[in-house]
Amino acid sequence: MKFNLKNIIRENVANMKAYSSARDEFQGATDDMVFLDANENPFENGVNRYPDPMQKTVKSELAKIKGVAQENILLGNGSDEVIDLILRAFCEPKQDNIITLPPSYGMYDVSANLNNITIKEVPLKENFQPNVSKILETVDENTKVIFLCSPNNPSGNLFDYANVKAIVEGFNGLVVVDEAYIDFASEPSWVTRLSKHPNLIVSQTMSKAYGMAGIRLGVCYASKEIISVLNKIKPPYNINELTQQKALERLLAYEDVQEEIEAVLVERDNLEIALKEVSFVEKIYPSDANFLLVKVDDATKRYNQLIEKGIVVRNRTTQLLCENTLRFTVGTIKENIALMKALKELE
Ligand code: PMP
Repeated sequence: MKFNLKNIIRENVANMKAYSSARDEFQGATDDMVFLDANENPFENGVNRYPDPMQKTVKSELAKIKGVAQENILLGNGSDEVIDLILRAFCEPKQDNIITLPPSYGMYDVSANLNNITIKEVPLKENFQPNVSKILETVDENTKVIFLCSPNNPSGNLFDYANVKAIVEGFNGLVVVDEAYIDFASEPSWVTRLSKHPNLIVSQTMSKAYGMAGIRLGVCYASKEIISVLNKIKPPYNINELTQQKALERLLAYEDVQEEIEAVLVERDNLEIALKEVSFVEKIYPSDANFLLVKVDDATKRYNQLIEKGIVVRNRTTQLLCENTLRFTVGTIKENIALMKALKELE
């Protein structure tokens, strides 16, 4: 059976109409018109008007950078909103299920639980790659979405191209490739392959490489059919005016972003070299992201000791395959020196 969006969209979503404002209904509004349609405060202060619900300026810049059309983009209030919108559009509560691959990012489960959607877990293999045959065997008629996080949080590795391809091509539902960390990675994004795979959704964010976690801007790339379903259910003004302005400024300064990425990658290497010299560090996992997963002798003890020294890292010891691991975000040179100094003092 081939992928057919009609088979997986929720019935109520297929049948509903999107909210529409006067400015949606009346195309071609220009700035010199008199706007008495939206019950706004008329006194200008820069944010007295509702923001562009379709975020056209931001999308047009993103479209140029990523080489996709604007109609293939949906923006979310962080990629956390993108995850939630996907589940709400395509998964029937109390009936459908999704597949996640622990250890992975926590919000797939949180969103699924909130929406009353069953989670089927197919753990990653020891090398943190997806178990493709097990995943495809786990699919049943109510499986709507498979979440792949690549580079994976918390392990930091990219999923092999062949593994992702086999899952995307072997499944009739939607495959979300969460690429929050792709800008740090050594391989290209799956965005370039969207036209080949009608069931592929790629999720990215401005929170990591773009240095804008505070503005909350997540980006979803998919076929125009999938995007129009998500557009229909998103809150009309989900991306506020200030976020749109800041995002645009940052996208126009794309060279600065690239410089920062380079700097983080250099620091990631430096941190890795330094960590190898710490006596209680047992393993450093290869990373294609801006963090390192590190196995130590006793993660909880080291985590608490670091807190006492004023350094907060992530203790991942309770996650599957992550016993006694800590996750270190790559900081500035100064922050990384502080981390290394603290670790050395604990030897
Ligand atoms: N996906 C992954 C894999 C993440 O690690 C994170 C944030 N830690 C997100 C998504 C959420 O990002 P955002 O800030 O865009 O909501």
